[in-house]
Amino acid sequence: MNYRHAYHAGNFADVVKHAVLTRILLYLQEKPAAFRVIDTHAGAGLYDLTGDEAMRGGEWRDGIARLLAAELPDDAASLLKPYLDIVHAYNAAAELRRYPGSPLIARALLRPQDRLVACELEPSARRQLIDCLRRDRQARVVDLDGWTALTAYVPPNERRGVVLIDPPFEDKRESERLIERFSAAFAKWPTGIYAIWYPVKDLRATREFTAEVARVVAARSSQASRDVRCLRFELSTGDAVEGGLHTAGLLIVNPPWTLQGELKTMLPALSRALRRAQGARFSLEAL
Ligand code: SAM
Repeated sequence: MNYRHAYHAGNFADVVKHAVLTRILLYLQEKPAAFRVIDTHAGAGLYDLTGDEAMRGGEWRDGIARLLAAELPDDAASLLKPYLDIVHAYNAAAELRRYPGSPLIARALLRPQDRLVACELEPSARRQLIDCLRRDRQARVVDLDGWTALTAYVPPNERRGVVLIDPPFEDKRESERLIERFSAAFAKWPTGIYAIWYPVKDLRATREFTAEVARVVAARSSQASRDVRCLRFELSTGDAVEGGLHTAGLLIVNPPWTLQGELKTMLPALSRALRRAQGARFSLEAL
C-alpha cells in the first residue's frame, strides 16, 4: 500500500467530500435517536499542512486555503459554516496549519449517544488516528480491512447512520471491489446512508461505475418509494490543470431529503472558490 493521504489532505476533493459529510451528519442530528458513522478507509485523522508530505504536494493551497479565502454568498456560507468551524477549531485564529480528516470531522459532530468506528490498515496512519482519538469512548479505531468492515459492521445497532467509503483507488479493480462489497452491505442494510467517494479519471468508466451502484440500489429498493435513492455530484477544478487529480465525485445512497437542495446552493459557490483553470464545472444528478 503506497497511498498516503497526507499528500492530498485538504485538497479540493477533501473539501467537497467533508462539506457534504458535515451536512449529512447535521441531518442525522435532527432526531434524538443515536446514529453511527462507519468510516471504512479513515486515514490518519489530523494532517500537518506544514509537514513535508503536505508541503510537497501543496494541494491544500488549492483546496481548503482557497475556500477559507473565498467570499461566499450568504446561503452557501451558512451551509458551509459548520464544516469550516470544525477546520477552524484545529487552527489558531487566522492560521491554517492543520486539517482534520473524515474521522475527526465525524467525531466533532457526534452527540453523546452517537458512535464512530474508523478502519485504517496502514500502520503509521492508524497509529496517528489512535493518537487523535485516544481515550475517546465514542470513537473506535480498528485494524480491519475496510472492505471486510463494510459488511461486518452493518446494520449498526443504532439502525441509523452513514457509511463513508473512501478507498485510495490505487488498484485498477477498486471500483469492481467497491460495487461487490457495497452490494453485500446494502443487502444487509438497505436504509443506511452511504457516501461513496471516487476520482474521475475516465469519465466513461466512472459513469458505468456509478450507474452500476444505482442499479444495485434500485433493484433492492421498494418500488413504492418515490424518494431519491442516489445523488451523484462531480466537481472539476478545470480541465487545463496540469498533473494530479482535477475532477472528483461523490455518490450518496439514501441521501437525506434536504441534501439535494443544499448541494444546489453549495456547489456553485464551491466551484467558484475552487476553480483553477478553464473547464471548471460541476454536475448534480439524481440516479
Ligand atoms: N477518509 C479519509 C478522509 O476523508 O480524511 C481519507 C482516506 S484516504 C483516501 C484512504 C485511506 O485508506 C488511506 O489512509 C489508506 O491507508 C487506507 N486504506 C487503504 N486500503 C485500506 C483497506 N483495505 N482498509 C482500510 N483502510 C485502507
